[in-house]
Formats: sequence, C-alpha cells, structure tokens
Amino acid sequence: MTYLAKLGELTLKGSNLQEFENLLRKNTAKMLEGLKCNIVLRAGRLYIDCSDEAASKVEFVLNHLIGITGWAKASVCEKTIESINESVFNLAKKEAEKGCKTFKISARRSDKSFELNSYEICCEAAGKVESIMKVDVHNPDTTIYVEVREKCFVYVDSNTGCRGLPVGSSSKGLLLLSGGLDSPVAGYRMLRRGMKIECCYFHSYPYTSEEAKQKVVTLAQKLAYYGITTYLNIIPFTDVQMKIKEKAPEAWSTLMLRVCMMKVANILAGRCKAKCIVTGESLGQVASQTIENMSVTEHFAEFPLLRPLCGMDKEEIIKDSLFIDTYETSILPYEDCCVLFSPRHPVLRGSVEEAEKIYKELEVDALIYESYKKREIVKLTSSGEPVWKTV
Ligand code: ATP
Ligand code: MG
Repeated sequence: MTYLAKLGELTLKGSNLQEFENLLRKNTAKMLEGLKCNIVLRAGRLYIDCSDEAASKVEFVLNHLIGITGWAKASVCEKTIESINESVFNLAKKEAEKGCKTFKISARRSDKSFELNSYEICCEAAGKVESIMKVDVHNPDTTIYVEVREKCFVYVDSNTGCRGLPVGSSSKGLLLLSGGLDSPVAGYRMLRRGMKIECCYFHSYPYTSEEAKQKVVTLAQKLAYYGITTYLNIIPFTDVQMKIKEKAPEAWSTLMLRVCMMKVANILAGRCKAKCIVTGESLGQVASQTIENMSVTEHFAEFPLLRPLCGMDKEEIIKDSLFIDTYETSILPYEDCCVLFSPRHPVLRGSVEEAEKIYKELEVDALIYESYKKREIVKLTSSGEPVWKTV
C-alpha cells in the first residue's frame, strides 16, 4: 500500500529546504516508530509504503503530521500509458460508485522522458472514463491525479493535511495548558509554526479535582500526537492560590494568579530551554484579557509571551478544537482553579505599578519556587501511553 502526501509551506524555503525536508522525514519516522514501512521524500512529495495492517496507523499519522497540505492513498502503476489508463479507470469506477457524476484529470510529468506530455496524458486517460462520468474541468465532483515520476502514481486528493512547518524547526515554547478550549488550540497553532512545546498546568487540589487533572493529561496527549514528544508539568498551586486569596485585594485575585503563573513559567521555561511562553488568551474574551491586564501579565514574563489566539473569536477557536479533537475533552465540566477563585468584580484595567506593589505584598516567591519543585511530570509521545515521573 502506498500513501502520498503533498508538502506545504516548507517548499517555499530556499537554501535551507533540505533541512526542513530532513526534519519532516525524521518526524514521520518517529511517529511511525515500530511499524514496518518505507518512507521516501522526493521532489515535493512524501511517500509511505506499508502493509495493509499498518494502514490505519499510517493514516492516523498523516492526519497529525504537520508540514503537509494533503494526503491520499495512491495506486502505483507501470510507466506506460496503458497502465495509467487502467489505474485511472479503476479509480474512476470507485468514485462513480460513491456518487460522483463529473470528473477532471490533473496530470504531472516530472519524468520528462515519458512519451506523452501532461496534456496528452489527461486526454488519453480521460477517454475511457467518459463512459461512466462527464468531464467538468471547472467544478468537478472528483479530480483524479496522475503523477509520472520514477514510478507512476494515480490518486484522488481526499484528505486535508495540517499544513505548517515541521515540528522542531522553530525551537521550543512553554505552553500554559489549562483544561479549557483555548489553550490546546494555542498549542496546536504554535506546533504548526514548527515549534516544539512543553506544557505546564497549575493544579489546585482539592479545589480542582483529580478529573480536572486527568482532563489536562488527555489534552496534552492529543497535542503530543502532533508534537511527537511533549512533557506536561503539573504544578501544585493550592498554597499559592490560598495566599492570593488571603492577601490580595479581591478584585485583583485573577490577575495576581496570572502573575504567579508567569513567575513559575519563567523558572520552567528556563529549565526546559524554551524560548517563549504561550497562552490561550484572546483579546477581550474575559476580564483578565483586556489589553491592560494582558500588559500586566506580560510585565512579569521574562520570555516573549506569545498569544496565537489573540485575534481569533470563539467560533474560530471551536472550529480548530474540533479539528484537533480536543473539543469534547475541553467541554467536560470539571472546574479549573481560576473559576473557583473568580472575584465578583475583577479589575478590568490593572496598572503595572499597582500590580508590582500588590505582588510584593503577597510575599509569595518562596511558595512559587516550592510549587515548581513539587511538580509532577508526565511524558507523552505520539505513539505510546503517558508515563508519569516525579522530580
Ligand atoms: P482556556 O480555555 O485555555 O482555559 P480561558 O478562556 O479559560 O482559557 P483564562 O482562564 O483567563 O482563559 O486563561 C487564560 C490562559 O491562561 C489560558 O489560555 C492558559 O494559557 C492559561 N491558564 C489559565 N489557567 C491555567 C491553569 N490552571 N494551568 C495552566 N494554564 C492556565
Ligand atoms: Mg481557563
């Protein structure tokens, strides 16, 4: 069985194209670890040969492989026009059975020594198909692709890829991953820019339940399907949160919580060699996400703070979460720690000066370091089960 995937944005790269291609090949091999298959990357295409038993796993991997615009199961045939015609016709029959009434053929000949040019291949191959479907070059129900390369590939382009740049081409970011809808999507967006991610979740037991923690592990696992390997750091945050409740003005409690999260994130990012911190904030979504309050949080970050969802609305975020299959998990009803400690009237436009002053009065630095030290770590890979470690 052969699968063919089309490479995305990385083909626009110039002299370092090879580097991006090597990374994509390496990522594919890692995601398919343990399976017998042959992976070839040549001239803008990725080919995977595998046994029938491996097919479903290969398809799962192709659905999670960042760097390809689409993929298809391809028939491989001899480089003769007779074989091409036969393969095209067989595929056309299946498409007609699925209800397609019109078709178009798109041919590419990268082997210029082949006897016919692309246009001639299209005309030849279309001939017999016209007995079962009508040609429509503008708006066909199905397009059958023929590629004449070192071998000949015939396929219909049916599956969309994740696009983006291969994971690992843009250093690492530390993702603040909560159980909500937004932060997993933020992580996915950065993965698609080639960034590896390590995750960090703040857990306030018993105010947040074991189920809430498990939910975040599930979300991190779903991101690991794209990100190859990721670590989830679970930070016990109850003591810090209680201190905020005790000492900070009520209106400031959510914002101070964000500030304290940033303080831990600074330590973690430094330790795991992340080059930035990523959150799922979106401008104006909740009180803590006004530009003034985001500036307060940012002031305490010692790394660039990236917010890939900043300009997205909820509907767009939900669409992404459905695509990456985190939606169902995110909407499970376990409260997160921020909801439980939400002030009735949160500050909407906090100032950095005031935040500095309130933070100082909290005297929470030792507790913050303590929470970092007491973290649990879960290793997640694209193919295995989560592995728990204690520091
Ligand atoms: P999400 O849907 O990602 O939870 P949200 O809309 O609920 O986001 P907030 O609760 O204000 O927004 O959180 C903003 C961002 O702060 C989150 O997207 C996430 O990156 C980070 N964050 C919030 N709570 C936690 C937590 N318990 N652990 C880790 N990160 C968190
Ligand atoms: Mg949240």
